[in-house]
Amino acid sequence: MREFTYLRAGSLADLPASATIIAGGTNLLDLMKHEVMAPDALVDITRLDLNRIEPEGDGLRIGALVRNSDLAAHPIIRRDYPVLSRALLAGASGQLRNMATTGGNLMQRTRCPYFYDRRMACNKRDPGAGCAAIGGVTRNHAILGGSDQCIATYPGDMAVALRALDAVVEIDGPAPRRVPLADFHLLPGDTPDVETVLRPGEIITGVTLPAPIGGQHRYRKVRDRASYAFALVSVAAVIGIEDGRISHAALAFGGVAAKPWRDPAVEAALTGREPSDALFAEAAAILLRPAKAWGENQFKIPLLRRSLIATLRDATGMEARP
Ligand SMILES: Cc1cc2nc3c(=O)[nH]c(=O)nc-3n(C[C@H](O)[C@H](O)[C@H](O)COP(=O)(O)OP(=O)(O)OC[C@H]3O[C@@H](n4cnc5c(N)ncnc54)[C@H](O)[C@@H]3O)c2cc1C
Repeated sequence: MREFTYLRAGSLADLPASATIIAGGTNLLDLMKHEVMAPDALVDITRLDLNRIEPEGDGLRIGALVRNSDLAAHPIIRRDYPVLSRALLAGASGQLRNMATTGGNLMQRTRCPYFYDRRMACNKRDPGAGCAAIGGVTRNHAILGGSDQCIATYPGDMAVALRALDAVVEIDGPAPRRVPLADFHLLPGDTPDVETVLRPGEIITGVTLPAPIGGQHRYRKVRDRASYAFALVSVAAVIGIEDGRISHAALAFGGVAAKPWRDPAVEAALTGREPSDALFAEAAAILLRPAKAWGENQFKIPLLRRSLIATLRDATGMEARP
């Protein structure tokens, strides 16, 4: 690891525009050890007053420094937004969740092995260098929204649930703003190094959730081992049923794209219809219409199809098939 300076901020006003923020450090320090990120200066924000969970309108505001463990265990989250609690508890390990923060979790970088290995070409790490993943080992890579510059995935779980819940990211900086989570993470296109809309000098101060929408909340994560592992594929679902029909459906998907993936056409196809295997197969076909595999990750296409169908069967009370 290279030398760097370290400063602890006492207030938002103390934040220098150029320094790299450190919160829980669980992702950033790994990246510094691998010299994928080499900041000259770190600003520790853990003393800022950003660790509250409080009502905002009919919804909730979650401070950027709320730890993943505390968020998962919060009684209002467990009661009104259980998909979020479940996603958080499916992420990392207990020790990591005790350190990981809401803002840091949103900003965690991809786990693409070529991004982590400085000997390998990576457009995300070194723009213009090429992409060693394409034509390489692609088991964990994107099947939706990739480009011929980058097929890395966004690895987090929390953000997948937040996407299904229509969360909004609160940003402070020279011009404070609020950005729907849907627009916060970016697809790679020709600039895979630009991963979010956050600009230099800006900081995430919190995330807001709209009023709870009720319904059945599920988070299904398929991974290599149960103890801790990033998602191969995950599904966050909030499904309402009225008079035997699906009254509302919010679905987001992890492990398959550079951002938590959501497709309004899938939700529209389900809404107002009676749950059935035929309907769920139709929804999965819509979801997978734009899917593209890159060799080894071909298995993610049937895996995502089956994961969506199993989640829908579960959330609508139909017995899940083995
Ligand atoms: C072994 C292991 C397994 C894991 N498994 C999972 C998993 O299954 N699912 C999952 O979702 N995650 C998993 N993680 C990732 C973990 O959840 C993240 O490392 C963590 O959430 C990052 O939060 P942090 O506060 O530690 O961020 P840091 O490491 O402090 O920061 C991460 C990035 O965010 C930036 N940042 C931090 N706070 C802010 C802010 N307020 N505003 C703007 N930028 C900010 C930093 O500058 C840095 O670039 C795993 C991590 C490890 C090490």
